[in-house]
Amino acid sequence: MKKIAIIGAGYTGMIAARELSKYYDIDIFELDSTIGGMAKTFDAYKTPLENYYRHIFKSDSYAIQLIKELGISDQLIWPKTKMGYYSGGGIYEFGTPISLLKFKPLNLWNKFRFGCSVIKIKTIRHYEKLEKISAHEWLRKYAGKKAYEMIWEPLLFSKFGSSYKNISMAWMWGKIVLRGSSTDKDGESLGYIRGSYQVLTDALEQDLKNKNVRILCKEKVTKITKRKNKYTLLTENKQYAGYDIVLSTIAYPYFIEIAENLIDSKTLKKLKKIQYTAARIMVLFMKKPFMKFYWLNNGNKDIPFGGLIEHTNFIDKKYYDNKHVLYISNYMYENDPLYSISKNELFKKYVPMLKTINQDFDPKNVERIEVFKERYAQPIITKNYSKIIPNFKIQEENIFIASMPQIYPEDRGLNYAIRLGIEVAKQIKKQDSVHTKRDQ
Ligand SMILES: Cc1cc2nc3c(=O)[nH]c(=O)nc-3n(C[C@H](O)[C@H](O)[C@H](O)COP(=O)(O)OP(=O)(O)OC[C@H]3O[C@@H](n4cnc5c(N)ncnc54)[C@H](O)[C@@H]3O)c2cc1C
Repeated sequence: MKKIAIIGAGYTGMIAARELSKYYDIDIFELDSTIGGMAKTFDAYKTPLENYYRHIFKSDSYAIQLIKELGISDQLIWPKTKMGYYSGGGIYEFGTPISLLKFKPLNLWNKFRFGCSVIKIKTIRHYEKLEKISAHEWLRKYAGKKAYEMIWEPLLFSKFGSSYKNISMAWMWGKIVLRGSSTDKDGESLGYIRGSYQVLTDALEQDLKNKNVRILCKEKVTKITKRKNKYTLLTENKQYAGYDIVLSTIAYPYFIEIAENLIDSKTLKKLKKIQYTAARIMVLFMKKPFMKFYWLNNGNKDIPFGGLIEHTNFIDKKYYDNKHVLYISNYMYENDPLYSISKNELFKKYVPMLKTINQDFDPKNVERIEVFKERYAQPIITKNYSKIIPNFKIQEENIFIASMPQIYPEDRGLNYAIRLGIEVAKQIKKQDSVHTKRDQ
């Protein structure tokens, strides 16, 4: 049996392994001590909790199918959630037609234009038409300057910082059309796995074990070399030789570091074009609730975080020792001081901002703080992005890449990591059968 090395035990890597395990002998290399990648959890009192807030949309068919195949559908729940928007010093319900009517910061005409822009996006069938235009241009034109500046611009800015004017409208289309599928007139129903995503990761790990896939944790791959058509992976601890195929699921800058000598110039050029924003997420465990919403988007550009996610307005606080759990989501560039200051310094900076949003917020009610960061958290999806998406296969090599920037036009997410894992596995099998036929 041919041997495949997969780099990264996130969902893309694990799903690809699951798809390929019938045909290949597979080792997955993971630098961390646990698996799951960005979908990892930590110990929050009695129940694990995701490092990064997490939910499933009704349109996440790949995630829902995986949950079914792993026999844990009975753990998938769909609580109703409420979304809010912070703007001009007030918090408003958001996300439904009725809430739009009640949204005070916009006058009736601007609300009408905003509503029309959302309807127009939802009626567009093919994103290709939107590729060439930025979300900034399109939304300003169709929602009007006022609604754009009040709602869309802060959302784009919070995720992409200084690049926000260059984001493709195709990306925004993917985001709005898909999120809309989880919303009805009464609000949004989002999916969650009772007991956390760790339940899904554990079930997947067991399934991989049953399929004889080896997962090697605490094995950071530092270099890939090739001799006589076989690849060797050097890790910080050892070297592993004899692989016929390598699949990398790690962020491109990391992949370039370990394999630059094997990447053809055309692919390398494409990989280097892809930029990312980083994310630093703070989790507060509090004695009192912060707000009544699950998700609050921030429309105030002076406050650096894009959103507040009160997980315990989605999932009962009884799972977390009756603490109220609030995520503070902040996307930024890696060189932003907020990315590297200490947890306590960051919290001190956030306190006055949290008080601006909710004057009753008292830091004394915060009993525990956790922070997590991701250097390559969100690919920056610019205009005509489809032209710079790299292929799965590196030319002249049996090395494949599958990573978040290859998800398009949908916004990256666990559902699409699963789809990507399935797609790259298909490509590997197809490519390998072509080679086998030619070689015979
Ligand atoms: C703040 C935040 C919130 C999110 N919220 C949601 C949400 O609500 N719903 C949703 O569906 N998605 C959400 N996502 C996105 C989702 O988590 C990702 O799209 C998905 O988990 C990506 O999976 P992946 O396997 O492609 O990559 P990763 O999960 O990044 O997996 C790559 C793995 O490779 C490992 N690795 C890196 N370098 C090496 C090396 N040299 N050697 C060995 N191993 C290495 C890493 O440790 C990691 O485990 C969120 C992401 C972020 C950052």
